[in-house]
Amino acid sequence: MMFPVKDNLRRILGTIPENVRLVAISKYHPAEYLMAAYEEGQRVFGESHEQELRLKHEALPKDIEWHFIGHLQTNKVKYIVPYITMIQSVDSIKLLREIEKQAEKSGRVVKVLLELHIAEEATKYGLTPDALRQLLSDGEWRRMSHVRICGLMMMASFTDNEQQIAAEFETARHIFDEVKQQFFADDDAFCERSWGMSDDYKVALQHSSTMVRIGTAIFGPRIY
Ligand SMILES: *Cc1c(COP(=O)(O)O)cnc(C)c1O
Repeated sequence: MMFPVKDNLRRILGTIPENVRLVAISKYHPAEYLMAAYEEGQRVFGESHEQELRLKHEALPKDIEWHFIGHLQTNKVKYIVPYITMIQSVDSIKLLREIEKQAEKSGRVVKVLLELHIAEEATKYGLTPDALRQLLSDGEWRRMSHVRICGLMMMASFTDNEQQIAAEFETARHIFDEVKQQFFADDDAFCERSWGMSDDYKVALQHSSTMVRIGTAIFGPRIY
C-alpha cells in the first residue's frame, strides 16, 4: 500500500505558516507518490539527481515548479537549466558561472540560493561563511543577468541535539542578515532562507526559515 502521502502532506501543511513555502523533496520516490502530492495541491518539488529529475520532469504535469537541492556538477547544468525554477545548492563561483552561461543560452533567468555550510559534518557541501563573503565581495555575480540570487540554503547537523540545531539556524539567520544588508539591501529578490527538513523543520520555523524542504515526513523512508 502506498505510504499515506496525502494525509502526511495535509498534516504538515497544517503546521507551516502561510508565508513559508514547502518544497516536497521527492528524490528516490516514484512518480505516483509525487502525483498523490500533486493531487493534494502541491506544486513545488525538490530533487537531487539530474537524471532522476529529468525523467520525472518528462513524466509529470508541466505546472510543477522544480527545485534542485543536491550537489550539482557543472557538466550537468545544461540539462536542468531549460526547465528548473530554482537551484538551491550553489556552492562555487564556477557553478554560478555555468548556470549564467546556460541560462543565457536558454533565454531564461534561473533563481538560485547560495548553500551555506555551517554543520559540523565534513561531508556536507556548501560555502563556509567566509567563502560566502568572499564570493559576494568579489562581485562577479553582479554582472550575471541570467541568475537571480534569492537567498541562502543550509542543512543543520545530523544530530538529536536540538540546541545545536537551533544555534546553527540562528547562525544562518545572522549571516543572511549580514549579507542582505551588505550586498542585497536594495534587492527584494534576496529574501529566502531555506532551512528545515523532516526532523528539524519546526525548529527552523522558529529561526526565520522562509522555505522548508521536507521529504521523509511526506513520502516515507527512501529506498536507495
Ligand atoms: C534529502 C534532502 C532533504 C529532505 O530530507 P528529509 O529528512 O527526508 O526531509 C532536504 N534538503 C536536502 C538538501 C536534501 O538533500
